[in-house]
Amino acid sequence: MILIPHLIAGALVGAKIQNPAGIFLIAVTLHFLLDIIPHWDYWDYLKGAISEMPPKKFRQFMGEAMVDLVLGIFIIWLIFKNSPLPHQNIAWGAFCGILPDGLVLLNQITKEKNNYLSKFQNFHDRLHWLFIKNKKIPLWLGILTETITMIVLLFLIWR
Ligand SMILES: [Zn+2]
Repeated sequence: MILIPHLIAGALVGAKIQNPAGIFLIAVTLHFLLDIIPHWDYWDYLKGAISEMPPKKFRQFMGEAMVDLVLGIFIIWLIFKNSPLPHQNIAWGAFCGILPDGLVLLNQITKEKNNYLSKFQNFHDRLHWLFIKNKKIPLWLGILTETITMIVLLFLIWR
């Protein structure tokens, strides 16, 4: 998934759970579960090799990821700005919600590969294709599943 649904999911966990370690465990697990849902992702045009990307394409990707990140944080801020719930838990949840993607990016951009990080990325990437055999999902379907996921998450927050 792109960062917005992961940020919202993490914030949801932070809003519902008190314990920081619990927030970490559940938000990270939820990240993986969301990635199992067939969806559109940056991978569709990244083809998994950021380090070999031409600089222009890399800048485009980083630009999109930044918009994705800022928009997600803005949505969470809008939802929770007047909420009595502990804001630090919500922020921590949102952070944990995108942490796996941060680690994948770290593995992608580092030249000296760290064994654990590489294994982590393999695990993370494999989840994306659990239900998609040819690593291809129609664009409309990928966007639809991602949108439905976000609506469900927002519904769970407001319930
Ligand atoms: Zn991910």
